[in-house]
Amino acid sequence: MKMEASALIDKIIQESKATPDELISLLTVDSRGALYAKATSVKEKIYDKNIILRGIIEFSSFCRCACTYCGLSCENIKLPRYRFTENDILKYAKEAYAAGYRSIILQSGEDFSYDADSISRIIRSIKGLGNLILTLSIGERTHEEYTQWFKDGANRYLLKHETSDEKLYNGLHPHSSFKKRMDCLLDLKSIGYQIGSGFMVGLPGQTLESLARDILLLQELSVDMAGIGIYIPHPDTPLAGLVSGSPDLAIACVALSRILLKKVHLPSTTSIETESTEKYSSLSAGANVIMKKVEPYHYRKLYEIYPNPKIFDKSILEERKELEKFVLERGLKVERTVQ
Ligand code: SAH
Repeated sequence: MKMEASALIDKIIQESKATPDELISLLTVDSRGALYAKATSVKEKIYDKNIILRGIIEFSSFCRCACTYCGLSCENIKLPRYRFTENDILKYAKEAYAAGYRSIILQSGEDFSYDADSISRIIRSIKGLGNLILTLSIGERTHEEYTQWFKDGANRYLLKHETSDEKLYNGLHPHSSFKKRMDCLLDLKSIGYQIGSGFMVGLPGQTLESLARDILLLQELSVDMAGIGIYIPHPDTPLAGLVSGSPDLAIACVALSRILLKKVHLPSTTSIETESTEKYSSLSAGANVIMKKVEPYHYRKLYEIYPNPKIFDKSILEERKELEKFVLERGLKVERTVQ
């Protein structure tokens, strides 16, 4: 007889292990209330009600890659591109630090015009601002570069595996391969970085089994952080016209990652927020991190991995205050230690 969902969740929590079939059965139950409640209780045992706020600086939209789902693909000639100078990057990092961020993520397309030494200078200047955690998310680079940047003080590296289905991965990334991605992640780990991975929900041809394997891969890699978002079609990519992934299914993946991996940073991703209503919130399903863009709005709009209609114009500090209010209104707290 099939185990009750609630008993199965308890078993996974207790054993910290699951089979693909068990995860699939929990992804297909009608009501996910029990899963979300238990994921929240696992999260609160580790992090209490604290939410970590991270500032992300998307410093260049130039990219040498041709990912068929991504608006930043080098094949998308319609997108106006930008890249920040080292001084500008430091300026936004300083503003973020002054607004209270103690965790900063530097993200960009794969833009090789920043050579190893310029990234080193950026890392050292940002780390020099004070006690903070610095995460890099700048794609596939060499072992030597990763090693140099770790020595310069970078703490984490975010490189999503995007999908654990190797065939699907290779079809979506004509310029690279799943094997290369895994090699980079393992290399980063062996150098000493805390690694971040993650995947998209709703990719064309993706199955529930591959989502279950995505979650198991996070555990196998023993990631420090996992960004789980939905795929959102971009009109100027080969995959234009497809439908977005389901926020509900992505949130269920967040909750399952929480009960299986326990101590892992799970951000409430922008893609889920972009498409979801208040009804869906990964913060009440196991997520413990919010990442907020901190570059000026003009550039946020241009960092167009998928179309983002929301355009306001607020300062980093103003937004930080709003974010803190958002957290408190949900009965949660803002983490004040450096994480
Ligand atoms: N160059 C870096 C950062 C890539 S952009 C790297 O290779 O890691 C950051 C993330 O955006 C990607 O990892 C991918 O998961 C997400 N992304 C890109 N296009 C998307 C789309 N159309 N819908 C949802 N997420 C997308």
